[in-house]
Amino acid sequence: MASPSPIDLHAHSTASDGTLSPAALVRRATAQGVKVLALTDHDTVSGLDEAQREAAVAGVTLVPGVEVSTQWQGRDLHIVGLRVGPSDRHLLDGLAWNQGQRRRRARTIAERLERAGIPGAMDVVEGAGDSIPTRSHFARFLLDGGWVSGFQQAFDRYLRRGKPGWACVDWMQMDTAVRLIRGAGGVAVLAHPTVYGYTGAWMRRILDAFSAAGGEGVEVVSGSTDSQGVQKATGFALRHGLRGSVGSDFHGPENPWVELGRLRQMPGTVKPVWSDWPAEFQPPAMEAINRHDAT
Ligand code: MN
Ligand code: MN
Ligand code: MN
Repeated sequence: MASPSPIDLHAHSTASDGTLSPAALVRRATAQGVKVLALTDHDTVSGLDEAQREAAVAGVTLVPGVEVSTQWQGRDLHIVGLRVGPSDRHLLDGLAWNQGQRRRRARTIAERLERAGIPGAMDVVEGAGDSIPTRSHFARFLLDGGWVSGFQQAFDRYLRRGKPGWACVDWMQMDTAVRLIRGAGGVAVLAHPTVYGYTGAWMRRILDAFSAAGGEGVEVVSGSTDSQGVQKATGFALRHGLRGSVGSDFHGPENPWVELGRLRQMPGTVKPVWSDWPAEFQPPAMEAINRHDAT
């Protein structure tokens, strides 16, 4: 069962495809009892300033983060960077490249949806202004227009590979993302390892390559992971010598199944990714747990 967690290292705001502003996200996390929160928007750090200001007011420690879309041997992988320096030039350049890919993809999706007889899809791109539409934005557009009856159905009927609104995209390479995150002073964590649906053999190869590239952590607990998933991800961490991270992957209050700071427990056999971080990043309850483990 998910229980209150004072640390949540994966969340989205309106800087990418979340529905709460960075400040509102921090306020909600605070109300949920979160003491250490990472903002990890897709391929952008543009929400971090606002989140940091609100965190200072709320008395929450903000972990500057980002979730980078990457590829390895043609497979998609999401790499979360934690404690990244948000003004690191090389990281920003890399994220800008991914944003260009995302912008191109959004236009292609819109064109294909329009061609499939769904008018107004291009408005999703044009109405977004400076921000870049993700597939979640198109899913909400399809839902609001009554083309589908649920968010997931939008993906299943229109946005998945092989569906009318699918568009390929070449994200940056996984090892590039790891190098950029490390270069910006951050720690690279493989996000939600059980949601990709890759076979065990592929996961072993992916995790070997990720470790070799300098990746240090894997999300053992994600907001939608069931107990079997936690077990599986624990195995990944232990077998590959990776640290464990925990994060809800919260996108907004519309999804009642995922909440900030509501997470299954990470098994004590896994070394937390935050175990050697400075004191301000150690949530009080976790400090007690770590002390207990050390004795
Ligand atoms: Mn997302
Ligand atoms: Mn992801
Ligand atoms: Mn995410």
